[in-house]
Amino acid sequence: MSAGALVLVLNAGSSSLKYQLVDADTGAVSASGLVERIGEPDAKAVARHTVSGQATTREVDAADHDAAMRVVLDAFATHGPALDARALYAVGHRVVHGGDRFRSPVVVDEAVIEAVEDLVPLAPLHNPANLAGIRAARAAFPTTAQVAVFDTAFHQTLPPHAFTYAVPRQWRERHRVRRYGFHGTSHAYVSRRLATLLGREPGEANVVVLHLGNGASAAAVAGGACIDTSMGLSPLEGLVMGTRPGDLDPALPSHLARQGVSIEDYDRALNADSGLRGLTGTNDFREVVRLVEAGDADAVLALDIVAYRIAKYVGAYAVALGRLDGLAFTAGIGEHSPTLRAAVLDRLGLLGMRVDPGRNEEGPAERVVTTQDSAMPAWVVPTNEELEIARQAVALLR
Ligand code: ADP
Repeated sequence: MSAGALVLVLNAGSSSLKYQLVDADTGAVSASGLVERIGEPDAKAVARHTVSGQATTREVDAADHDAAMRVVLDAFATHGPALDARALYAVGHRVVHGGDRFRSPVVVDEAVIEAVEDLVPLAPLHNPANLAGIRAARAAFPTTAQVAVFDTAFHQTLPPHAFTYAVPRQWRERHRVRRYGFHGTSHAYVSRRLATLLGREPGEANVVVLHLGNGASAAAVAGGACIDTSMGLSPLEGLVMGTRPGDLDPALPSHLARQGVSIEDYDRALNADSGLRGLTGTNDFREVVRLVEAGDADAVLALDIVAYRIAKYVGAYAVALGRLDGLAFTAGIGEHSPTLRAAVLDRLGLLGMRVDPGRNEEGPAERVVTTQDSAMPAWVVPTNEELEIARQAVALLR
């Protein structure tokens, strides 16, 4: 194993621990995997470890993230590559919420842990899991630098007119109510890559990035700095997602509360049963496309709703940027669904975008999908959040 800038990137969710061992300089991934169903009372956890394309999957005992971390170390010890702490440049942690405190990555110490804990009310599902991952990794690699990379950090350049909600001062000050934005590492990586593909320095390109996975968000990036993004206080705002609705009338919670819907049911419905799932019964976009092709009326409407919402945001962000140089589609749906890309681009004629059906349908993973005479290019740019986290961690330490 080379001793370049090897980073173990960890992404700890409430019941999962994903990891990747990546060289921040070359992007080479020497191993990746995940442990899922951590701490579930009725099911064994499942661990998958992949080295050189060879995956091994097994049931394991993992009652908490510490146990899951031991499973990961065991997978490296059994299946390789050797995971020598001395050869490890850093452990990079994806942390969802950095509030307005963290504008860039930081080396984890007690003060950082306290600050991430303090932000739990803003990310009650994610930050506790991220902290569990940090604690497990500190125990496993006590002498290796641990770096926290925040999903919100890239959006800390938003100007006040873009991040301030028009709500009472007390809410903004005491309850920290403002737009934070998420998917920041993906937007940072893809916007920089798109600038390069457009033949510009990142500081000279104005782009819109559409991160369209199970969660989805748009970002407007001016000269490398994010100036607006569609997710807000939470990852519920903005685009229509797999199971989340995106933009809603703020009167909805009180309206439903008066009909007897509890806050717990409301939260659950908006996190787990809305979006594509609420409209069609499934949050799997491949299945939605199959239903559209079979003429299912709900799925046809859902595709229209999703594409219309995305196109509205692109139009708004073109205005916010003043000049738009290009658009990027990324993440599961953005990278893999020609149907969705065509539905969006067909609504963007005003911006001079014309989809090229052949290029949209197939080609290399990274490619332009608009016609040559299109006034504005749209690209597919595969995201790589792990590499971005590794690079940011190494850049901080070097
Ligand atoms: P997450 O937000 O969970 O990381 P991903 O970025 O992996 O999500 O995206 C998951 C979504 O991408 C799912 O809705 C899935 O159906 C969709 N997807 C993946 N491959 C394709 C494909 N070939 N065509 C259409 N949708 C796809």
